[in-house]
Amino acid sequence: MKNSGVQQDVSISQGVRAMFYLMKPNETSFQTLEEVPNYVEKATPLFISLMILELIISWLHKGKLPGRLDDVLASLSAGVLSQLPSLLFRSIELTSYVYIWENYRLFNLPWDSPWTWYLTFLGVDFGYYWFHRMAHEVNIMWAGHQTHHSSEDYNLSTALRQSAFQVYTSWIFYSPLALFIPPSVYAVHLQFNLLYQFWIHTEVINSLGPLELILNTPSHHRVHHGRNRYCIDKNYAGTLIIWDRIFGTFEAENEKVIYGLTHPINTFEPFKVQFHHLLYIWNTFWATPGFFNKFSVIFKGPGWSPGKPRLGLSEEIPEVTGKEVAFSSPASQLLKIYAVVQFALMLAFYEDTFANKAVLPQVSLILRISFIILTLTSIGFLMDQRPKAAILETVRCLVFLILHGSGHMKPFIPSLSLVFETTVKGLSL
Ligand SMILES: [Zn+2]
Ligand SMILES: [Zn+2]
Repeated sequence: MKNSGVQQDVSISQGVRAMFYLMKPNETSFQTLEEVPNYVEKATPLFISLMILELIISWLHKGKLPGRLDDVLASLSAGVLSQLPSLLFRSIELTSYVYIWENYRLFNLPWDSPWTWYLTFLGVDFGYYWFHRMAHEVNIMWAGHQTHHSSEDYNLSTALRQSAFQVYTSWIFYSPLALFIPPSVYAVHLQFNLLYQFWIHTEVINSLGPLELILNTPSHHRVHHGRNRYCIDKNYAGTLIIWDRIFGTFEAENEKVIYGLTHPINTFEPFKVQFHHLLYIWNTFWATPGFFNKFSVIFKGPGWSPGKPRLGLSEEIPEVTGKEVAFSSPASQLLKIYAVVQFALMLAFYEDTFANKAVLPQVSLILRISFIILTLTSIGFLMDQRPKAAILETVRCLVFLILHGSGHMKPFIPSLSLVFETTVKGLSL
């Protein structure tokens, strides 16, 4: 039990165990929200280590890589993009929860009781199940969540392909917990529930035997990511698969799963990956006649149109043949390697920004965020081989030199400092 008033450290053992929800109540119970460690922020090295491990296992056992560079870059770009708002604002999932707790709580469960801890574990997982189910059944929520399903591969990087705006609806499903569970206990489980879902995005684990009955596993979640008809709207679980078994949405892995959206988006551009369905809803909304129909376009299922049942018709879901060819970048291998190097440098810069967010001036923070967005967009343009990709990348390099020259960023290879300074001076002459 911790009540020191400052954010607690996370040991290596705790960091690793947090990825699998193997935590004990007495080491993860905190009196105040301020003491709750940021387990998710500290997990980046573990994400990378597990991705490398998956690569090695897949190579040794199957003789193939678990994913493709262009797709992995698009997934990681979505992951970075989805985290950027947290550099400026406290997450809405916490802000709304604290507001309800402070103004409307009915009673106060003890923060240091293991019973509260286990109840919150179940409560957050139950809230996640309903959020996730609605994220598939309500079109406007699907506009956010579809990002996570847009990869046609299935590997650990897919877990990080997250929506930048689904948190604006997910908080609703956790808010009943704020009537009786302290925010510090909720904040711990919200993070563990998210982290648990990382390792299940893999094809290198087949079946976990009897654990498949209770836990959400790689096999169950592969079904969730499938676009085969038998996979649609199944296995919404976060940590426990029991919710799907109880509410009739469970489906076991059967025929070979073909991953991705039923209508693939065929792009690696981060903004299209995030917002294309929102644009589609906007256009469909105006093209659909009648007030109630327009309302239904937003709140019924993504497959709905006038005259159809709420969730659309399953026979309209394109049948898979097993011969689907995943969209891949037309860029050369050399260009892909260039993109990976630029992405890795950006990632180091992103980590540095998170580590120093408390001391960086607001203007530096905003410029850094803008540069990260510019980098992700440029990499997306390069991967899609858009006509303006070369111009955008040149602009990005110039912006880097200007930001470096004005002291808003530092190069990660110190010996390059002199080169940058000389170039900036050369440009300004
Ligand atoms: Zn989903
Ligand atoms: Zn997933």
